[in-house]
Amino acid sequence: MMPFTYARASNVPDALRLARTTVGAKYLGGGTNLVDLMRETVERPEALVDVTALSAEIESKHGGGLFIGAAATNTALAGNRIVRERYPVLARAILAGGSAQIRNMATVGGNILQRTRCTYFYDDAARCNKRVPGAGCDAIDGFNRMHAILGGSPACVATHPSDMCVALVALDAIVHTAGSDGTRSMPLADLHRLPGGRPDVETELKPHELITAVELPALPFGPRSTYRKVRDRASYAFALVSVAAALDVADGEVRDVRLALGGVAPKPWRAWKAEGVLRGQPATEASFCAAAEAELADAAGLRHNGFKIELARRTIAAVLAELAGEQT
Ligand SMILES: Cc1cc2nc3c(=O)[nH]c(=O)nc-3n(C[C@H](O)[C@H](O)[C@H](O)COP(=O)(O)OP(=O)(O)OC[C@H]3O[C@@H](n4cnc5c(N)ncnc54)[C@H](O)[C@@H]3O)c2cc1C
Ligand code: SF4
Repeated sequence: MMPFTYARASNVPDALRLARTTVGAKYLGGGTNLVDLMRETVERPEALVDVTALSAEIESKHGGGLFIGAAATNTALAGNRIVRERYPVLARAILAGGSAQIRNMATVGGNILQRTRCTYFYDDAARCNKRVPGAGCDAIDGFNRMHAILGGSPACVATHPSDMCVALVALDAIVHTAGSDGTRSMPLADLHRLPGGRPDVETELKPHELITAVELPALPFGPRSTYRKVRDRASYAFALVSVAAALDVADGEVRDVRLALGGVAPKPWRAWKAEGVLRGQPATEASFCAAAEAELADAAGLRHNGFKIELARRTIAAVLAELAGEQT
């Protein structure tokens, strides 16, 4: 591990000021990802600015939405009564990740910005464009069973590892940030970038821009939502494929739907095409399969992960059928 300084911010301006004092400063949430990366010398920040004393509030908004401070732990969010009642997909997604100890430490801000679990990214003997821009990518012709089938590029096919983000993207979450240019807000679906030729640039955030909160709009059919994660082991395993879905069925028809996929792309993947195909259609297995087909039409398998295309198709259809079955 390289030498670094540590300071604890007491509020947002303090965090921004502390980060600005060192070019190579990074914010520290629970440290469950960043500290591992520092031990492997993949990340080498010269200063850590601890942001766990910032807002960890989880608060209902007028009109039925939810405000979530970026320092809220994953455990607090999954256990929150409003989340469990209004957005069960989010509670289930968080509980499908890591272990209780990791969720106790992990924060919402850190979970959103956790880095890929591509093994070549962690191995400094391997070629990795994300770690060393222009170095090449050993995953493309290497062991790529966990890698992307959607949204990858010839430079990088890593997947985004978060379960929580898949649910948040399905729920139209808005991310609030603060930086040297002031505050701003953007849909979480727009925060993470696809790799293109620059896999090292992972988000739209500017240097030292801080995530301060996440906001969920009201979703009347949010209680009819769920998350399914398909993985190699029941715990301590990242998703091969995961599906976050909320479904509103009336008179046998899909009135509305929210759908997102994890484990398949370099960012939490909102399934806009599938949603477009489903709205107004009969809530039947045939419609669910057609929606999955539409979303996966552009999917491309690598040498070891072609199975994910069929797995994603079946998981989407099964999750939608489960939610429809609860409403008939
Ligand atoms: C063994 C193991 C298994 C795991 N399994 C899963 C799993 O199955 N599913 C899953 O989703 N996750 C899993 N995780 C990952 C875990 O969820 C993340 O490590 C965690 O969510 C990161 O949160 P943190 O607060 O600890 O972030 P940190 O490690 O503190 O930070 C991560 C990144 O976010 C940045 N950051 C932190 N807070 C902010 C902020 N407010 N604004 C701007 N930048 C910020 C940091 O600078 C850093 O770059 C696993 C982790 C481990 C160690
Ligand atoms: S897939 Fe991305 S993270 Fe993995 S080795 Fe290639 S460039 Fe690096």
